[in-house]
Amino acid sequence: MTKIIQLDDALSNKIAAGEVVERPASVVKELVENAIDAGSTVIEIETEEAGLAKIRIIDNGDGIEEDDVLTAFQRHATSKIKDETDLFRIRTLGFRGEALPSIASVSRIDMKTSTGDIGTRIQVEGGKVQEIERAPARKGTDLTVSDLFFNTPARLKYMKTIHTELGNITDVVNRLALAHPEVSIRLIHNDRKLLHTNGNGDVRQVLAAIYGLNIVKKMVPIEAQSLDFRINGYAALPEITRASRNYISTMINGRFIKNYPLAKAIQEGYHTLLPIGRYPIALLNIEMDPLLVDVNVHPSKMEVRLSKEQELNILVTEAFKNAFKSQQLIPTGFTEP
Ligand code: ADP
Ligand code: MG
Repeated sequence: MTKIIQLDDALSNKIAAGEVVERPASVVKELVENAIDAGSTVIEIETEEAGLAKIRIIDNGDGIEEDDVLTAFQRHATSKIKDETDLFRIRTLGFRGEALPSIASVSRIDMKTSTGDIGTRIQVEGGKVQEIERAPARKGTDLTVSDLFFNTPARLKYMKTIHTELGNITDVVNRLALAHPEVSIRLIHNDRKLLHTNGNGDVRQVLAAIYGLNIVKKMVPIEAQSLDFRINGYAALPEITRASRNYISTMINGRFIKNYPLAKAIQEGYHTLLPIGRYPIALLNIEMDPLLVDVNVHPSKMEVRLSKEQELNILVTEAFKNAFKSQQLIPTGFTEP
């Protein structure tokens, strides 16, 4: 008698959700990434109880075709890659086709979407489609996730305080906004506005919305280029420091990533200007050929493997060093004769 069985879709999605949907902030990240990939210029995020009760994302992007709506909730179903060559040339934030089925398997979803003509509404509960019907059309997608982890009690218990989970959400939204100043992003929690960027493409406005104007006034631009990399960003002067590395934001091709060597390279640029145990506020955007970066490392897509890592790190350190050097060329209190 055979013992091995193929798990059904609902169960395998729930298993995948364990990795993709770690906490409410992961849901926010995946859904806002979808909205950005859909070419949205305005995205509104509303949460209740740090996303555990409700997460609603309204975008004005391309929407999903009526005939694609059910497929979008299938595992490994994506409009973003077609074959193996695409996998090595990822330009979108998503590509794994896992977010919607994973989130749907551990929550209740109510989604309205339209490409501009016909609109569709779908309700999914614990991975099972409850209802799908035509709905009034307004181009874009309006997706509400309720009762996250209602059917995975162990995960629900693992959630930290509202304060911590909300902190994670703000963190994710801040970084998405920094990576995409061309999109207006608004975050509202329990009717309180936590972030609003105007989408005019100037990252300084986003930095000001997050850290305050006084910090932005003390940030200097970073810019450098090599054969393989183009980098730009902003660095707070060394007189402004923080107690954690969390204020260093690194982006590769519009995706915020966690990469310790890169954060180190930035710190290195400050050299001895930083007191021990203190970290800078810095933003670093890196543009490179997608062939040089493997984003298919972890389901959360926040870790990457870089070719020519050493070359990049040196470029980054030098760029930060130079930014402060040119600062020092301007003597304080200098006035035109
Ligand atoms: P992925 O983003 O990796 O493709 P997802 O499960 O997140 O996978 O989404 C599946 C598909 O559903 C996407 O490829 C996209 O075509 C569509 N989709 C999801 N969210 C949106 C949205 N907000 N606007 C337009 N299309 C969307
Ligand atoms: Mg996605």
